[in-house]
Amino acid sequence: MPLYEYLCEDCAGIFEVVRPIREVPEPQPCPECDEECERVMPSSFSAFIMRQGYPRRIPDKGTYWHLGQEVTYLPKKARPYEHPQVTKQREQEPLATQDYTDLVDRKIHERRLAREDRRKERDLKRDRMAKRAPERKPLPQPMKRD
Ligand SMILES: [Zn+2]
Repeated sequence: MPLYEYLCEDCAGIFEVVRPIREVPEPQPCPECDEECERVMPSSFSAFIMRQGYPRRIPDKGTYWHLGQEVTYLPKKARPYEHPQVTKQREQEPLATQDYTDLVDRKIHERRLAREDRRKERDLKRDRMAKRAPERKPLPQPMKRD
């Protein structure tokens, strides 16, 4: 069976899945955070904003993806889209590394918060449903003392 790449935007990482071709369009849970992830074409990795311009590989073995290939180290900061382990070169100029890191960290953080909010909301809704029958009186509020 062939190997396909999936992108987890929350973890800013790519992972591989071996699966039959008919299952390829179905989302795949991320091995790290369990979010559903969509397949990405190796050539489109650079279309996503990743830490230092590179998607992390999940599970994180300390390696990176560079234009669809696994590499063990990041290229020199001055030429982030070139890598000696990959012969292909890109002309696109990425943001400065620090900008990238800040942007990605903020983006990941925001996504995590949003996901936590969705979960809390879902749990609240579930609790409310569970408590609906039988009818409940509101709890007496404790008196304020000074
Ligand atoms: Zn993930």
